[in-house]
Amino acid sequence: MLFSTAEIPTHHEQLKFLKHIQQILQSGTFTSTYKFALLISITRLAIEQGQDTGAALHLEYQDIAEKFIDLYWKQSLPFQFNQYEPFFLKQSTGQQAKIISEIQKAQQQFKTLAALRTDVLYWNRLKRTVATTVKQMPVVYLQNLNGQTVEFLYCLEDSKQSLKLLPKVMYCLRQFSEIVEELCQKRWIDFVRLNKHNLVVLDGLPDLDEFMFAPSRNQLGRVADYLIDLQQYQCFYCGKSLKNSKYAVDHFIPWSLYPADTGHNFVLADDKCNSQKSNYLASEQFLQKWQERNYLHDQSIVREISQFGFLTDIQRSHRVADWAYKQAIENE
Ligand SMILES: [Zn+2]
Repeated sequence: MLFSTAEIPTHHEQLKFLKHIQQILQSGTFTSTYKFALLISITRLAIEQGQDTGAALHLEYQDIAEKFIDLYWKQSLPFQFNQYEPFFLKQSTGQQAKIISEIQKAQQQFKTLAALRTDVLYWNRLKRTVATTVKQMPVVYLQNLNGQTVEFLYCLEDSKQSLKLLPKVMYCLRQFSEIVEELCQKRWIDFVRLNKHNLVVLDGLPDLDEFMFAPSRNQLGRVADYLIDLQQYQCFYCGKSLKNSKYAVDHFIPWSLYPADTGHNFVLADDKCNSQKSNYLASEQFLQKWQERNYLHDQSIVREISQFGFLTDIQRSHRVADWAYKQAIENE
């Protein structure tokens, strides 16, 4: 990756950027949830692949497609609640969105995203199909504000081979990722809830956001069983024995900062440390400890935790951590 030493955006430019994001999300010309997914995807990729400079960033459509699949995987599964039949969320105002149908086809063959990834042929084919749709649909329409195109994220003409984020965009996305994520998730949930295909069933249901965006908990018990051996029955933070105390799987980089599960991010902590840490970053001594653990046990973490359906990629996890700690220092 090449980064020029482009200047970072001024405060005024940063505000203008946020204003644009807000306008996009308010413009109301949404026929599917793709635009939300695209904004979230490029934000997460700016964190994983970018730096805190004002440089442009080229994103491969395959990588964006991967983020789409990750975001939609859980939402494509049947939504099960009280006495009703399982229900499939409609993600567009017309026919079911194509990407959802493709993912649902894959789900008939593969129980988890991790299992799907191991079938390289299928996985690559799915990514190509999704990439094509992303390129033809949300990439074309995202920057449309009430009928007018405002190219503030990327220039469509230059983005045929890969999506080229304009200078300063990567910087703003990394700075404001929490705002972008939260706004997009909120609008996305509203869109799904108010979509007339879903409304009858979902009206007033409280746990829709949980289903759509909360970390998936059903395999965390097995992650805990693995980590307890790896950590030799000790709390990751205070080192006390976990033998006679309650413990939980903790997101080392808090979910509120980076809402995607990655295998290397899990540590086991006793209830006291877990609730003390809450949504905060652990102090830097633990960052080092965590990185060392990941290097030392990389192979075992990849082998064991990917089995439970989680993405495992040490470099990606560590880049996210670098970003989070830099942000924390900057924001004191
Ligand atoms: Zn502890």
